[in-house]
Amino acid sequence: MKAEKLVIIGSGPSGYTAAIYAARAELKPVVFTGVESGGQLMYTNEVENFPGFPEGVVGPKFMMGLRSQSERFGAEIKDVHVTAVDFSERPFKLWTHLPDGENIETYKNGSPKEVAATIEKVKKDEPDMLAESIIISTGATAIRLGVPGEKKFFGQGVSSCAVCDAAFYKDKNVFVIGGGDSAMEDTMALTKFVSKVTIIHRRDSFRASKIMVDRVLKNKKVTVLWNSELKEIQGEHGVKKVIITTDGKDKEYASDGVFLAIGHRPVTNIFQGQLELLKSGYVLTRRTLTEQGLEKATKALDDKKNIQFPTMTSVKGVFAAGDVVDIRYKQAVTAAGMGCEAALDAERWLENQE
Ligand SMILES: Cc1cc2nc3c(=O)[nH]c(=O)nc-3n(C[C@H](O)[C@H](O)[C@H](O)COP(=O)(O)OP(=O)(O)OC[C@H]3O[C@@H](n4cnc5c(N)ncnc54)[C@H](O)[C@@H]3O)c2cc1C
Repeated sequence: MKAEKLVIIGSGPSGYTAAIYAARAELKPVVFTGVESGGQLMYTNEVENFPGFPEGVVGPKFMMGLRSQSERFGAEIKDVHVTAVDFSERPFKLWTHLPDGENIETYKNGSPKEVAATIEKVKKDEPDMLAESIIISTGATAIRLGVPGEKKFFGQGVSSCAVCDAAFYKDKNVFVIGGGDSAMEDTMALTKFVSKVTIIHRRDSFRASKIMVDRVLKNKKVTVLWNSELKEIQGEHGVKKVIITTDGKDKEYASDGVFLAIGHRPVTNIFQGQLELLKSGYVLTRRTLTEQGLEKATKALDDKKNIQFPTMTSVKGVFAAGDVVDIRYKQAVTAAGMGCEAALDAERWLENQE
């Protein structure tokens, strides 16, 4: 089997942007879209903050545009999920099929043990593709609570991105779930637009940094329900009410929106043991914004003291971009920017191998 020059895993803004750049560089990239073809923006109606769209753009339309733009330059798009990888030697091996009796749902909802068991079975077969280089663009998913109404109203009053959606809640009454730095940041972002934010927190104090907590608690639009948990979200065409349990008692509150700020989970289950990941699961590159990333970057300095291939992971020839590496920003435009960087790094790295 002949190895592809570049395989891109993932079809969000980072994967497709990488595909556009790589295709224009005549690398003939193969893109595996995964089961969530188009990525996270497929779940949103209006994207108002991507530069170049003064009137905003509907998420799925935007993603279909990126897809056809990459195809126009020769990217080959395969609507399948990568079920296993082997990065131990080059060319890298990829599997995209599932043995009989295995279910793709395992990759979404299975425990790490279940996923590992499925991967082991997959790898008993021959690989489906070989690749000289790889860009990982598998994104991250917002952690959900799993309460009734959350799934039904996701994108219609339930959001996991206050930076993206706060402006749609002008003068509204919203709830934020969480107690860490993201919950504080989301609350502050919302206070610029809404009339009232109620933070629901399981404990009697926040985990967030003191400076953030002080700023939030000083804001007159903010109320906190301590020792509380969201039990249910109700509504019709959008969110209307939430049921909150405080100290064991249920109470109903009117609400126009619910913002989940309990963290993100990077989608890296197929990469366990294949490359270095942060403890939180994010892929480590030479531009990761942590001490470990700094260490990698320092070791990758060239003779002019520039970092070589900043988007490279711990495996030479494997690059990563977008939310799967992004512990900080998680925006479509930052993901797209990183996709561009990863494609340029991959192109240059491949040239150096010739
Ligand atoms: C509801 C919502 C609204 C948002 N609104 C905005 C907004 O208005 N503005 C903004 O800037 N940002 C917004 N965001 C954030 C933005 O969507 C993300 O930052 C961006 O999509 C990240 O892009 P990505 O390419 O890193 O990954 P994702 O978009 O997360 O895509 C990941 C891709 O990887 C694929 N994948 C995963 N595993 C595999 C595998 N094993 N094999 C093959 N493929 C795989 C998935 O199928 C998917 O296609 C929003 C997010 C959500 C959830």
